[in-house]
Amino acid sequence: MSDDSKSIHEFDFNLICDYFASIERQGPGSPEVTIKALSFIDNLTDESRIADIGCGTGGQTRVLALHAPGQITGIDLFPAFIDLFNQNAKQLNLDDRMKGIVGSMENLPFQEEELDLIWSEGAIYNIGFERGLHDWRRFLKTGGYLAVSEASWFTPTRPAEIDEFWQDAYPEIDTIPQKVEHLQNAGYMPIATFVLPENCWTDHFYEPQISVQKSFMKKYAGNKNAQELVITQRHEAELYSKYKAYYGYVFYIGKKI
Ligand code: SAH
Repeated sequence: MSDDSKSIHEFDFNLICDYFASIERQGPGSPEVTIKALSFIDNLTDESRIADIGCGTGGQTRVLALHAPGQITGIDLFPAFIDLFNQNAKQLNLDDRMKGIVGSMENLPFQEEELDLIWSEGAIYNIGFERGLHDWRRFLKTGGYLAVSEASWFTPTRPAEIDEFWQDAYPEIDTIPQKVEHLQNAGYMPIATFVLPENCWTDHFYEPQISVQKSFMKKYAGNKNAQELVITQRHEAELYSKYKAYYGYVFYIGKKI
């Protein structure tokens, strides 16, 4: 494959890690939204087992650890993110509550019915929403919760430019009622859904990237992959600002029945 046809998923892992490691979050979200989603979960105790799947460097995991009881295991494919996850946890004296491990969401290292809560912000798309709901369910106790955020359409139809962008990036993007139906069909009682506010994309995701992009362009001057990564991220930010009435991230919270 030539460099020209690379998608974000095919960029050099080290470049992606370097780019995203210095920002608090690797996807749209905010501490307020994590706390709001947590407000729908009512089964947690100090004995609870929680998994944060696709945890990245653990921005949302630290919020979970500060606002919920129980032991949290963060899992991510990228070792560099997990190193940062564990360093940050230690610095904040949260390392007795949260532990990061390298692993894949396609092959989770849990026992059947071990977990009280499965958390995943901006990451389930990597396995696909329907497959993730189905495959992860067996690790939850009956009555356990799943809370995931997922790209969703806000309207039944939308302009061709943004529709084509998402059909290429993630064809499983769908409307909120369809996503809720998938949640129900996968064996969860739908408990809550809410749309992430715009500041999760702007203040917490795209704006922190602006200074990273500047230093990244200098550090990797002449590196075509690095330049393309920046261009791709800038393009996504522009699309968001143009079409934010049509799509965004939505939290879906379900209870295993
Ligand atoms: N939850 C974090 C990160 C979201 S970005 C946040 O909201 O800030 C998506 C994360 O999924 C990345 O950290 C990426 O490394 C991870 N990821 C991608 N494929 C994965 C897989 N197969 N298994 C586990 N993690 C994966």
